[in-house]
Amino acid sequence: MARPSLKRLNKLLDPYYVTKGVKFRLGDVDPHDTGGLKSEFKAEAKALLAEGVGWLAEEQERLYAQDRWSVLLIFQAMDAAGKDGTIKHVMSGVNPQGVQVHSFKKPSDEELDHDFLWRCAKALPERGRIGIFNRSYYEEVLVVRVHEELLARQKLPGATAGKGLWRKRYESIRAFERHLARNGYLILKFFLHVSKQEQKKRFVARLDDAEKHWKFSAADARERRYWDDYAHAYEEMIRNTAAKHAPWYVVPADNKWYTRLVVAAAIVDAMERLKLRFPRMDAARRKELAVARRALLRE
Ligand code: ATP
Ligand code: MG
Repeated sequence: MARPSLKRLNKLLDPYYVTKGVKFRLGDVDPHDTGGLKSEFKAEAKALLAEGVGWLAEEQERLYAQDRWSVLLIFQAMDAAGKDGTIKHVMSGVNPQGVQVHSFKKPSDEELDHDFLWRCAKALPERGRIGIFNRSYYEEVLVVRVHEELLARQKLPGATAGKGLWRKRYESIRAFERHLARNGYLILKFFLHVSKQEQKKRFVARLDDAEKHWKFSAADARERRYWDDYAHAYEEMIRNTAAKHAPWYVVPADNKWYTRLVVAAAIVDAMERLKLRFPRMDAARRKELAVARRALLRE
């Protein structure tokens, strides 16, 4: 497939693409933004998304055949921002053998008995694969920062737990991602930025629709009390961990069709820049295949 026309939406990405954190302000991205596209664009957005998804499926085969790069997609967001739906839609065309999705929940006792990167390091995609982290080690500077009491369960020795903890965690994360990038990981990080009003609307919709009741969690609704603390933690996280080799995309998430479009465009854009190709055959390999072919036909 030729370069997808989703590519022409590249420019949409600019305001959301953060590689240098110093000047980043969460308030600069409006959750309701649709990049100037009107809601009439929805149908076309759907078609573009479908095309991008098709392209991604082919690109994943090249990734797998070439067996050099790994792709790590990290998703972070407040509840009901649409992480699950976005992952489902954007990855819908890809061969399930080529993608691994990991959802990180509250850490288990075994996980708490290790450093905070351990469980994610164990779940990293192999070369040639796409790995999706639905939440990640970033929870360690988000929910844990908002609810510092969670630190008590982490059994950190006194000297390492005190002052400067968050700064040190950002440092660990930066070093980890730098290490991964140096070893062939394409890292893309998505923060789905939903507004407090839109989250309320989605929670209420979950209560109003019997088929969505299962999705509603009273605990999630109670977390709204800490909205400003989360906003601050997200902003600090992005300011401290955005890098050229591990950019953050701050994706407006009040309109699902737009969120999905932006995420797909970002993945297409970044993977295209890898210039993945099916491995070339050298003369020896060509000869080997010819010999195999003759042998098969002689049987
Ligand atoms: P769903 O859409 O199914 O609700 P979810 O990702 O919200 O998906 P839950 O099981 O509802 O899944 O929530 C996971 C919870 O685990 C979140 O509240 C998250 O903040 C918490 N969590 C994840 N990682 C950590 C961590 N390292 N320390 C403490 N809590 C964590
Ligand atoms: Mg949840």
